Amino acid sequence: MIIAKESVVTMHYTLKNEAGEVLDTSAGREPLVYLHGVGGLISGLEKELEGKQANDKLNAVIPPEEAYGSRRDDLLRIVSKEGFQGEEALVEGMRVQLETDRGPAVAVVSGIEGENVTLDLNHPLADVTLHFEVEVLNVREAEAEEIAHGHVHGEGGHQH
Ligand code: ZN
Repeated sequence: MIIAKESVVTMHYTLKNEAGEVLDTSAGREPLVYLHGVGGLISGLEKELEGKQANDKLNAVIPPEEAYGSRRDDLLRIVSKEGFQGEEALVEGMRVQLETDRGPAVAVVSGIEGENVTLDLNHPLADVTLHFEVEVLNVREAEAEEIAHGHVHGEGGHQH
């Protein structure tokens, strides 16, 4: 069967940036299993996978607007160093966990100037054109319960 809305897709993937560096891969691990058409993957990759079937291999180049978006200046926050008790060695480039109005988030310390710390809440892959190599291993129809939950159950999925 071909990949369409509410297919459960099992696949191996390798993600590289424009320079060819591997950012993420399922090679050597369990393949990725996801429910197609419910926003489980970035939209550009789901679009490329639509209509594919088991044993298909594809290379997909996904621009930022169909992946993790553009970097936004309003996602830079300047906070006081005092907020970081216990974080003795606050250095540029380190990741910190923080509470936002939309729940916990990870930010990168992008600048330190006196008492001011600039936190960057942009996704690390914002502005990055993604190069995916994908091998589709299996496609099946989702169970009614999986569709209701919006995720895959069983092998590679939620155990509950
Ligand atoms: Zn569930």
